[in-house]
Amino acid sequence: MSRLVDASHAPDLLSWLEAANDPATDFPIQNLPFGRFKRLGDTGAWRIGVAIGDQVLDLGQAALIDSQDMHQLMRQGQVPRQAMRQAISMGLRQGSADEARFRAALLPMEQVEMGLPCEIGDYTDFYTSIHHATTVGKLFRPDNPLLPNYQWVPIGYHGRASSVAVSAPGLGHAFARPKGQVKAPDADAPLLKPSGRLDFELELGAFIARPNLLGEPVSMAEAEAHVFGLALFNDWSARDIQAWEYQPLGPFLSKNFASTVSPWMVTLEALAPFRSAFVRPATQPQPLPYLDSDANREQGGLDIELEVWLQTSQMRERGQEALRLMQANYQDAYWTLAQLVAHHTVNGCNLRAGDLLGSGTQSGPRPEQGGSLLELSQGGKQAITLANGETRTFLEDGDTVILRGYCQREGFRRIGFGECRGTLLPARA
Ligand code: MN
Repeated sequence: MSRLVDASHAPDLLSWLEAANDPATDFPIQNLPFGRFKRLGDTGAWRIGVAIGDQVLDLGQAALIDSQDMHQLMRQGQVPRQAMRQAISMGLRQGSADEARFRAALLPMEQVEMGLPCEIGDYTDFYTSIHHATTVGKLFRPDNPLLPNYQWVPIGYHGRASSVAVSAPGLGHAFARPKGQVKAPDADAPLLKPSGRLDFELELGAFIARPNLLGEPVSMAEAEAHVFGLALFNDWSARDIQAWEYQPLGPFLSKNFASTVSPWMVTLEALAPFRSAFVRPATQPQPLPYLDSDANREQGGLDIELEVWLQTSQMRERGQEALRLMQANYQDAYWTLAQLVAHHTVNGCNLRAGDLLGSGTQSGPRPEQGGSLLELSQGGKQAITLANGETRTFLEDGDTVILRGYCQREGFRRIGFGECRGTLLPARA
């Protein structure tokens, strides 16, 4: 099911590129995530690159690919993908005979613009954190927080791919505060107005690699072969619009005005050392057979540390760095990646290369581990105080939210996801 740990993960492997050996880099030679870039100012098409240290390796320039079609690269099976990872790893490591060719294909990250990692055809958002589902459920339905289907079926909804944009340095993906129908609890009628309860959601996004044909479900055994890799994902949400519109069909305009994804897809190959067991306590319903396998129980989870950071406009004006708001771990998710793919296709639904599956907000078990402000501020009732003295219930205009993620485990090199950065701008007049 999962990809194996091999020589490309050896913790003592070093690159001839010194920046890749910096212990603080997210992109050592053990990572090698894929993305699309162009030189700043270049009006041509996106090119496929791999992040290494503070540089981008142009795969076409290094003669490793002959097409700039990311979907084509993603659709390849696991064997060619492993071979590509080996070739890149061999070329970048110390002592490589191909150093000159690879070195000539490097561009400093600060001289490139990153695009979406691939064209995203469809986007589905799941709800895999039971801690998030329970806390949010309490806010929306105090007497009935966790609905009875939650422990049986991976809950999700079809989102909208058109408004998914990529992170960038600085303000990142900047978007205007959305307007929508909002109804105050004591009002007789809703008003159209800018959302007053704008929130982030800390998520991972999984990119589909190999498509399945319409009518042909993907089994648990095959599920991970259909996943290319993961990026950080912020599913910005307008809570006041959501509260009014969500029944009976679920989120709609409260979610589809903006979503931000980080530019680098960290492959399942790179994540192989960071697998974790999928544990479902005996007191809870066990997954139905189509959502269960030995491999999934043994190593279906992923040990990925996730963080949310905030830089307010006041902090930016005063030259203060972003502050960390919370931290959670993806291994606490109630459903694994393989289960999401198996469930999404069990009715014959066809997933296509480049489709995006959001994990749902990742919250940890403790109150301070909420993956959204909705949780951290208890539905807006309890403002949180930042280390610089400012307070927040929901986001204010000018707030920049930065998601970070990394994997760290004894005996392996730390790898990271880079940043997913976006900024809330004032509503349009
Ligand atoms: Mn979400």
